[in-house]
Amino acid sequence: MKRSELFTKTTKTVPADEASLNAKLLIRAGYVHKEMAGVYAYLPLGLRVMEKIKQIVREEMNAVGGQELLMTNLQPKAVWQTTGRWDDQLVDIWFKTKLQAGDEEVGLAWSHEEPIMNMLREHVHSYKDLPVAVYQFQTKLRNELRAKSGIMRGREFLMKDLYSIHATKEDLARFYDQVIEAYKRIYDRLGIGQLTYVTFASGGAFTKFSHEFQTICEAGEDWLYLDRERNIAVNEEVLDDAVADMGLDKTKLEKLRSAEVGNIFNFGTEKADQMGITFTDKDNKNKPFYYGSYGIGISRVMGVIAELFSDEQGLVWPENIAPFSLYLINIGDSAGVRETTRSVYDRLTASGVEVLWDDRDARPGDKFADGDLMGIPHRVVVSPQTVAGNKLEYKGRTERKAVELSVDQLMEKLIHKGI
Ligand code: ATP
Ligand code: MG
Repeated sequence: MKRSELFTKTTKTVPADEASLNAKLLIRAGYVHKEMAGVYAYLPLGLRVMEKIKQIVREEMNAVGGQELLMTNLQPKAVWQTTGRWDDQLVDIWFKTKLQAGDEEVGLAWSHEEPIMNMLREHVHSYKDLPVAVYQFQTKLRNELRAKSGIMRGREFLMKDLYSIHATKEDLARFYDQVIEAYKRIYDRLGIGQLTYVTFASGGAFTKFSHEFQTICEAGEDWLYLDRERNIAVNEEVLDDAVADMGLDKTKLEKLRSAEVGNIFNFGTEKADQMGITFTDKDNKNKPFYYGSYGIGISRVMGVIAELFSDEQGLVWPENIAPFSLYLINIGDSAGVRETTRSVYDRLTASGVEVLWDDRDARPGDKFADGDLMGIPHRVVVSPQTVAGNKLEYKGRTERKAVELSVDQLMEKLIHKGI
């Protein structure tokens, strides 16, 4: 894509009320637009990153047998009353409104645990239908009290939520472990695997602890206690319980700031019991489903990555979720420069490399600064000097020095890296 065709501009100014680094950078680089606190729109560059994150998650969800669907934002009161979670005392983040016709109260979905169960009851009747795993990428609406962490805590945010139902607790336990492994692969592929810990958190309905995926990050809102030797991570909220339960030495625990990037939950038969949902088992008896729920905060993960890898110059995207792989800059507009840039652009694009060509009539320094601010992993410059030397100037986003490469060497470098 040519930069002149991208409608978004970079800017040095950010909204005065924006405190978080991730949102500041994403706004400055033209990835997101701030509607209000905790509410962000995704512009073309931001959407490209989000779609790449989604695709990685989608592949891993499909690999464990998940079927993708899309539930609704508008929620009927009755479904949530079955579990008591319509009650604002129990769930304090509801957005609620009323239909014009009939004055009926409706809620805006902050989760889909109840609606999914309620939907499944129409399709799953027998042990032969089990197990079922479904997932979606869905906008959740939550009336969060505080929204100061940029896209890491939205009042409107994108979640991937997976749900599974099973005939027995052993089946659910097996699938639960598969999802833990799938989540590890996801965070590895997103470039934050090394910093992300499976963490013991406050309990599911059936299990003493639930599991969170916590990424070490200064901008996070949680505290993680880490026993590096035993590789056990515990959320502060269950610290004493976990210390007692697992015989941890409290003095050896490292206290670290972290962000919850995922959460998995074993409900046992609690939801099915509350909602009166059963299947017919082999012995012809009606039994409640075992239910698991598994979330990933897609937009939060994007914010965490923006925070963790950025530097003085701006964003630094890991290769596989960058909106473009390469920022191509022409300096000047002589016939030689124009032809060379055009041919490099065509060749790379034809080989599947995603190139953003800064073809604007702008100062070279501004072009360099923009490529850096946007966090594009590779940069190539074509100037009268490089044309004269029959070379290109190449630099990786986090590298200090540029090097001279021939077009063939550049192709080798990029294609070889599997971009
Ligand atoms: P938190 O403790 O951070 O409020 P939660 O326990 O409410 O999270 P869940 O309801 O389990 O979170 O949601 C699943 C995932 O969605 C979380 O692990 C997190 O990554 C993400 N998430 C939750 N709330 C938000 C939010 N307000 N903005 C962005 N992502 C969120
Ligand atoms: Mg919450």
